[in-house]
Amino acid sequence: MDGWVLGLESTAHTLSFGAVRSDGSTLPAAIDAIRPREGGIHPREAADHHRDVAQSLLSNLLERHGLSMSDLAGVAYSQGPGMGPCLQVGAGIARALSAAHDVPLIGVNHCVAHIEIGRWECDCDDPVLLYVSGGNTQVITRLAGKYRVLGETLDIGIGNMLDKFARKFGHPFPGGPVIEQHASAYIEANPNASLKGLELPYAVRGMDMAFSGLMTAAVAMVHRGVPFDAVCWSLQEHAFAACVEVAERAMAHAGKHELLLGGGVACNQRLRNMCDTMAVEREGTSHAPPRMYCIDNGTMIAQLGWLELNAGRTTPYHASAVDPGLRTDATPIVW
Ligand code: AMP
Ligand code: MG
Repeated sequence: MDGWVLGLESTAHTLSFGAVRSDGSTLPAAIDAIRPREGGIHPREAADHHRDVAQSLLSNLLERHGLSMSDLAGVAYSQGPGMGPCLQVGAGIARALSAAHDVPLIGVNHCVAHIEIGRWECDCDDPVLLYVSGGNTQVITRLAGKYRVLGETLDIGIGNMLDKFARKFGHPFPGGPVIEQHASAYIEANPNASLKGLELPYAVRGMDMAFSGLMTAAVAMVHRGVPFDAVCWSLQEHAFAACVEVAERAMAHAGKHELLLGGGVACNQRLRNMCDTMAVEREGTSHAPPRMYCIDNGTMIAQLGWLELNAGRTTPYHASAVDPGLRTDATPIVW
């Protein structure tokens, strides 16, 4: 295939354009995320944000990497899952670019893109993905030609849980990094800290997880007078242990030896360390892509688009509608 593939990410708070060259090499994405002054992310406001910044963001990508639209080979976009209005803005831009430059359109699955960018960047082959983002928390692996969800959150995503907890105490979105700082401060000051007296509900339900009760209990713990740093530390320990436990069981059941992290919460160093420890104990390996490819980014969309285009799969206009509830296992692995 000649030419480069453009990737457009717009599932939630982030609009991003990324690119992959014809040989598959990935280029860092241009990224712009809405930062609500208060409260969570409103889908309509996020969609407006995406529309407002799209043109300058695309120019930024082209300039930064010396790309020309005349060499474009295809336009990939997130078809789902995500917030309807946000997805629609992305799909609209992708259709327009595809028509204007007469190149194929490739609608891709956002969750699968997290897996494929991780496989590519970390050079791992057949991992169990621990996908921990704002809206999603899933444990995924390839079985019988599809990526299957072996466990997932039953209520809110782990990132949303961290963001909501932080917001209750005045820290705006994104709260995850703030909690990480407070948790690190606590463990540095108390290297022998124990969870005794800092117990929270455990989030595992069979192979699934549930985080809202954990958050409510952590908020109550701060209101009882337990120092904020200590609660942040305990919250991270409990929430991450639940994810790592489910991922470990998935590896055991599916007979896999590689663990791969993806999603914004995978930026967290404590989570990365816990995954390393678990993988080493199982004589396996744990992988985490560079942080710019853990967060939502257009490069991962371009990379999955590049894989699908090379395998001959494109999206005709009539099948290009977005699907906010698109499931990971709805996408056949054709590459
Ligand atoms: P995503 O939805 O994949 O774009 O990721 C966004 C989520 O990642 C938000 O909920 C953030 O709070 C969370 N996040 C980002 N960095 C960190 C971190 N260092 N520790 C924990 N959560 C994080
Ligand atoms: Mg994501």
